[in-house]
Amino acid sequence: MYLVQSRHRPAARGITGLSEAVVDLSAVRDNVRTFRRRVGQNVMAVVKADAFGHGAVPVARAAVEAGAGWLGVAHADEALQLRAAGLRVPILCWLYDVSELVFLGDVEVDVSVSSVAELQRVVSTPSVHYVHLKLDTGLHRAGSAPDHWIELTRTAAHYEALGAVTVRGIWSHLSHGDSADAVQSTRQLQLLRTGVGLARRAGLRPDVVHLANSSGAVTLDAPDTDLMRIGAGLYGIDELGIGLRPAMRLVSKVAQVRRIRAGEGVSYGHDFVADRDTTVALVPMGYADGIPRVAAGRASVQCRGVRMPVAGRIAMDQFVVDAGDVAVEPGEPVTLFGDGSAGEPTAADWADWAGTIPHEIYCGIGNRVPRRYEEQR
Ligand SMILES: *Cc1c(COP(=O)(O)O)cnc(C)c1O
Repeated sequence: MYLVQSRHRPAARGITGLSEAVVDLSAVRDNVRTFRRRVGQNVMAVVKADAFGHGAVPVARAAVEAGAGWLGVAHADEALQLRAAGLRVPILCWLYDVSELVFLGDVEVDVSVSSVAELQRVVSTPSVHYVHLKLDTGLHRAGSAPDHWIELTRTAAHYEALGAVTVRGIWSHLSHGDSADAVQSTRQLQLLRTGVGLARRAGLRPDVVHLANSSGAVTLDAPDTDLMRIGAGLYGIDELGIGLRPAMRLVSKVAQVRRIRAGEGVSYGHDFVADRDTTVALVPMGYADGIPRVAAGRASVQCRGVRMPVAGRIAMDQFVVDAGDVAVEPGEPVTLFGDGSAGEPTAADWADWAGTIPHEIYCGIGNRVPRRYEEQR
C-alpha cells in the first residue's frame, strides 16, 4: 500500500514514472522517539515547506503517531492543509498575513504574536483563541524587542482578562541552533526565562514555553521549557550525530546508455571530455527536480552498486554519468541519495557538493518528483 502524491498535480495513480522520492515514515517515527527519549520533552514536529519536501500530511501523521504533541508550520496554508487532512493536535503558525487570521481561527490554529499591533489584529479576529508571544532573544528576526516585552505581556494579560484571547505559549528561536556550542543558546535561554518571569508578573500563565530547534534540544539544558520544535531532526538531518535515520531516498532509472570514444565531450559546453572510451548513462533528473546544477564536477550517483560520477553539466531535466565499463542497461535503478548504508551518496553529500545544507537539498526536490511512502520497519 502506498500513496503517490505530487504537490501541484493530482496523483497519477499507478504510474511511478522514472524518478521518485521514497519517504520511509518509520524513520520519521524513530527520529521523534529518539528526541523524546534523549530530551524527555514534548515534540512540536515542524512540517513547514511541505515537511522539508517530504510531504507535510504523511510526515505529520507519522510524527503524531510517534508521540509528537504539536505541529509547527511557517505559513497559514500549511496549517490549513494539516487541519483539512484531519490532524487534530495543536498547531502553531508563525508567518501569516492578517487576511489569513480568520481562516486560522476557524480551524483552531495557534498564532505567533510579536508586537502589540499584531496582538490587536488577532483580538479583532474573534475566531482566533490561542497565541504564543514571541520574544526576540538574539536572532533579531521576528519577536518582540526586549524593550517592548513588558508592554506586550501587559496588553496580552488585559485582553486575556476580557476573554478576547488566551496566551497559550511563550517562545523564542535560537540564532546558533545548528551549533554544538551552547554559549549563545544559553544566553538566549536566560533572556527567555526573564521574559517568562515578566509575563507571569503581568498575570499570564502560559501552558508551554519553547525555545530549542533540533540541535538546540540536544545541546541546551532547559528543563523549564516544555516543547522542542523539531524540524531537521525529523527528516534525519543529524547535525550532532545522535543516531537519526534519513527518511528520504531519491531514486531514478537510467533512461539511455551510450558508448563514447576518448576525446568526445558530454552535455552542454562539453565540460566533460572522455579521457578513454567509456559508457555514459543518462539520468532523467535535473535542476528543475532540485538536482543542484552547481554540484556538477563533484557529484556522483550509485548504479549497480557502483559510484558513477556526473559527467558534464546538469541540465534542467537530465544529466549524464560516466559508467566506465560497467554494463549498464536502460531502466536500471539509480540512487541519487539515500541513508548511505549501501555506499550510496547521502543528501549531506549533495549538500557538500553544492556548498549548501541538506535542508536546502530536501526542500528543493521539485514538484514533478512523486513522493512515495513506505515503512522499512
Ligand atoms: C524551521 C524552524 C524550526 C526547526 O528547526 P530545525 O533546526 O530544523 O529543527 C524551529 N523553529 C522555527 C521557528 C523554525 O522556523
